[in-house]
Order: sequence, then structure tokens, then C-alpha cells
Amino acid sequence: MRRIVRGVLWMVKGMLLAIALAALFLWPWSYWNGRQIQRSQYRLVYETVVLVEFGVGWGDGRIALWERRGEAFDADPAYWRASPVGRRMGWEWHTEPNAPSFAVGNSNRLWSPLSPGIAAWGGVDGSAKVRAASIPLWLLFLFTAAWPLTSLTLLYRRRARSRRRATAGCCTQCGYDLRATPNPRGDLLTRCPECGTSTVGAAA
Ligand SMILES: [Zn+2]
Repeated sequence: MRRIVRGVLWMVKGMLLAIALAALFLWPWSYWNGRQIQRSQYRLVYETVVLVEFGVGWGDGRIALWERRGEAFDADPAYWRASPVGRRMGWEWHTEPNAPSFAVGNSNRLWSPLSPGIAAWGGVDGSAKVRAASIPLWLLFLFTAAWPLTSLTLLYRRRARSRRRATAGCCTQCGYDLRATPNPRGDLLTRCPECGTSTVGAAA
């Protein structure tokens, strides 16, 4: 059970580290190559066609998530009602050269404890309702890298300490001196008398 929990935790840390590396790469890149990945869907709600858009975008050192829903005035409700294909039409993915300013930009900010920090915004853009949240990529990197990097550092230090103890003839767990004789290259005790850890195979 402990092993499974540890394995799952390391998987989560691995994913966080992957997000952190992606953020680190996107941070400088976003300044001259802002982009958004968007998916959109038309929905027939009673007599109106509603366009629902959801997007992830980056630009000017920030990454944003947003949702935008509004009436699609150019879409014909009769077509959508009559067409089973239209009514069943699923999500459509596309990329655009730039994320919209309401998502990534610094204006229209309602909540920002660390200026220029995390920003969340809900409001109206034209005739559509918008909800958006954005975060600087360097902050995303710090948030996602902190736990896995601390964990890896601690693991490395634990390994280095047990290696050091093994070469010095000490118990890898508690550091108790396991030399059976004063001879520096002499035999080692097979079991630590202090904590009970078996030393067989540990010194290799
Ligand atoms: Zn010990």
C-alpha cells in the first residue's frame, strides 16, 4: 500500500515537473509567439444558437484559460433545428495566432493579490459572457516545480548520505559504526545493533 501511494505521488510529481518545464519553455517564447488553442461548439438553446468557446492561450509571458458563450447571430436556428448533424456537432479544435486580450491582457482585472499576478475576470465581451483566468508563466513554473524539485533534492541527499555511511563502514539507516574490529578494512557486523537493519548487500 505504501509503495502504491509512493508510486502515485511520484507520478503526480513527474506530471507537475513536465508542466513546469513546459511553462519554462513557453515563458520567453510567448513574448513573440502568442497563440491560443481553442475549441468551440454551437448549441441550439430553444430558438437561439449559442456559440460556446473554451480556450487556452499564452502571450506576453502569461497563460490563460477562458470560456466565452454568446448568441451566434450569424447562425440560422432553422438549419440547426432541421439538421441532426448540426445538432450533434461536437467540439471543433483550432489554433489562432493570438490569445484574446481579455484573457491574457492586464486590463479588466478584478482580482490580483500579487500585481502582476494571478488574474481572474468575469464579464461581458460584446454580446458574449466571458470568464477568464490568467497567471504569469514564471509563477506557474514556481508553483509546479517547487514540490517535485524539493522532493528530488531530498531524495538525492538521502542517497548520498547512505552511500557515505556505507563507505565509512556505518549503518546506512542510522549511522552506527558497524566495524567489528578497529582494522579500517575489517569485517562489518551483519546486522546493525542499534536499529536492526541488515547490512548484507547494503554496502555494495
Ligand atoms: Zn542502524
